[in-house]
Amino acid sequence: MTSSQPAADAAALKRRALETLDRLAPAVRELALRIHAHPEVGFQEERAAAWVGEALRGHGYEVEHGVAGLPTALVAVRRGREAGPAVGLIAEYDALPGIGHACGHNLMAAGMVGAAAALAAVLPDLPGRVVYYGTPAEEDGSGKILMLERGMFRELDAALQYHAGDRVSFSIGCLATQSVAYVFGGRPAHAAVAPWKGVNALDAVIQTFNGVSALRQQIRPDARIHGIITDGGQAVNVIPERAAMALGIRSPDGAYLRELVHRVALCARGAAEATGATLQMTPGQLEEAIRFNRALAEVVSRNAAVLGFEMTGRFGEASTDLGNLSQAVPTVSYTLPTCPPGVRMHTREALEAGAAEVGLAGMLNDARVMVMTAIDLLAAPELLRQVRRDFDAEVR
Ligand SMILES: [Zn+2]
Repeated sequence: MTSSQPAADAAALKRRALETLDRLAPAVRELALRIHAHPEVGFQEERAAAWVGEALRGHGYEVEHGVAGLPTALVAVRRGREAGPAVGLIAEYDALPGIGHACGHNLMAAGMVGAAAALAAVLPDLPGRVVYYGTPAEEDGSGKILMLERGMFRELDAALQYHAGDRVSFSIGCLATQSVAYVFGGRPAHAAVAPWKGVNALDAVIQTFNGVSALRQQIRPDARIHGIITDGGQAVNVIPERAAMALGIRSPDGAYLRELVHRVALCARGAAEATGATLQMTPGQLEEAIRFNRALAEVVSRNAAVLGFEMTGRFGEASTDLGNLSQAVPTVSYTLPTCPPGVRMHTREALEAGAAEVGLAGMLNDARVMVMTAIDLLAAPELLRQVRRDFDAEVR
C-alpha cells in the first residue's frame, strides 16, 4: 500500500467501516435511548460520560475521564498504523433543564461512539489517529471554551461535528455572542422629601438603554443588541441606589462584535457620567462565530451525497461554543434530518424525535457521513493541506 493510491484504498476502507457501523447499529441505538432516558444537565453528565467511555474502551480506545479539570469531559484516542493527522469527533451529551434531551445531544454522543467504533475497524490500515471528545455543558456553561482555554483540541487537524435538526445542511456561520452585565451605583434619598440629594442609578440604566436604542440605527443589519433590566430599584419612594441590566450583543463577525461591545460600553459610561452613578461592567463568556471551512464542508457534502442527501450551506442563528473551537482548528458542523420537517430544537417535538425511529435512523446517517469523512481525511494528506489553506484564508 502506498500513498499514491489513496482513493482506491479509501473506498475499500469505507465499505468495511460502514459494514462495521451497520453491525453495531443496535448497540448504538440502545446507547442513544439510554442517554435520552437519563437526561443530565451541563457539567452533571456523569452517567452519559461513563457509558460513552465504557463503550469506547470496548472498541480499543484509550479513554481519559475528567480532562481539563472538568469531571464530565472525556477524551478517547485510538491510533492508526503510524503517526499522522488527528481527526476529532466532537460530541455533546448535556440535556436541557426540565424538558430533557430536546436538543438531540443523545444522538450526537451515541452516534459518534458508533462512528468511532466503525473507524476503529479500519484504523490499523490508516495513518494518524481518531480522537473522540465528550464536551460537557454546550447548552449553558460552554464546556468547549473551558477545554480550549486549558489547552485541548489544538493538536487536531480537523474537528467533525454533526447536530440534530430537520435540515440537510452544513453550517457556514453563526452569530458570535457576548453577554455583559452592567451595575450602576447611586445614592439613595427620599423620592419626595429630598430627591435632589440622591443619585439615581435607575436613570443610568434607562439612559444606557436609550443610548443603545440610538446606536442600533447605526450598526450593521446583521448585528443584534438585546437585553433586560435585572434590577430597577427596591421601592418607589426611594431614589434607587443600585440598578442593573444585562445585554446580549451578537454579530456574525467576531471583530465587529468586539467593536460593538466597546460602543455599548461607551453608552453605559456616558449614562454613568450624566447621572453621576458609578458603573461596573462584567463580561460573560464570548461565544465566537463558526469559522467556515469550505474544504471540510465539501468532503462532508460528497459523503452525504453517497447516502442520497444533497447538502446546502446554512447560516445558523443560534450561538454555540463550537464557534470558539472552529476559530482554533478547522471545523465542520453538519445536519442530516433527525426529526420531521419544521421541528425546532428545544421543543417537545424535538424531545420525542430524539428517541423515535426518525432520530435514531438520522443519527446513523450522520455517523456514516462522519466515518467516510474521517477516512477521507486520514487517507489523503493533500485534502488536509487544502483544509489548512482554507482555514488560514478565512480571516474572521
Ligand atoms: Zn444542541
